Amino acid sequence: MTQFVSLSSGSNGNCYYIGNETCGILIDAGIGTRTIKKRMSEVGLSVDRVRCVLVSHDHFDHIRSLGTFAARFQKPVYATAPCIAAFRRHYCTRDFLDASCCHPLVPGEWLRLDGKCFDSVEPSLFDAKENRSCEKAADRRHYSHGNGIWVLPFSVPHDATDTVGFFIDFFGETFTFLTDVGDVTDDAVRFAARARHLIVEANYDPEMLRTGGYPADLQRRIRGGHGHLANAQTAELIRRALDLNGADSGCVLSGDSGLDSGVNSCDCFDSNTSGDASVSPLQDVFLCHLSENNNTPELALSTITDALRSHPRFAALRFTALPRREASDLFVWE
Ligand SMILES: [Zn+2]
Ligand SMILES: [Zn+2]
Repeated sequence: MTQFVSLSSGSNGNCYYIGNETCGILIDAGIGTRTIKKRMSEVGLSVDRVRCVLVSHDHFDHIRSLGTFAARFQKPVYATAPCIAAFRRHYCTRDFLDASCCHPLVPGEWLRLDGKCFDSVEPSLFDAKENRSCEKAADRRHYSHGNGIWVLPFSVPHDATDTVGFFIDFFGETFTFLTDVGDVTDDAVRFAARARHLIVEANYDPEMLRTGGYPADLQRRIRGGHGHLANAQTAELIRRALDLNGADSGCVLSGDSGLDSGVNSCDCFDSNTSGDASVSPLQDVFLCHLSENNNTPELALSTITDALRSHPRFAALRFTALPRREASDLFVWE
């Protein structure tokens, strides 16, 4: 059984949870610690189940309570090294986050998160020191689909310190997170094509952005390639993911995304272990990070579903717009 819930989604704060009967992980901590606890309890979850926090980047709406949450609940934090360095200066984290509880993620490299600590229900066994013996930085040959918790960060264009998306294999249930993405890159498409559940930004409607009163420089930042995705771009990303098949969907971080990620020709998936690649397994599309001023859930859903309706795989997809200021439904897959 795998559970997913969005605790908040948007520029007011981002925080997502994936878990099962015994353990779970948070992706970003962009809302207050008390709010995380409260919204988890609203859907029947306990914060005790959270084993660590993955951080996509160092914008306020993703790390608001990262320092206090990690310190109060003794949770290790995983982020890229430049992002961890930025935590030492950021007012949300600098006074709370001890360097010993931060562990580096490397774009293009698998990280295995489970282990003896994840098997334990004793929180005291899961302090930062202990965790070091549990984390397993693994190369691609060891990735085994459905066998534990595997995280593969990958670089995305966004104007923060070192923004990553995540491909997560949580005991066989696969997720791709693309919460803040300035453009539709080949890598983003390939990772989207690999997951069963896609959490992807649908930030703005261009006409609403143009006429909505945002200053011109802010508008340029949002639509400039390192800001956020318009609804039509999100639709394009999904369509391209659905169109991938066979060998094309082997995710290759080839540098053709135009990102200076320092990663070259990393074949992330071994064909023997990553499941059937003949068709994208995509089932669920969760639209996230909708702008409060420049989009509506109805407009995002209608723009994206209208653009994809003629696709042969459209009928197999379930679309959900994640709410901004409350927990989503709890989604459960057996
Ligand atoms: Zn954001
Ligand atoms: Zn951001």
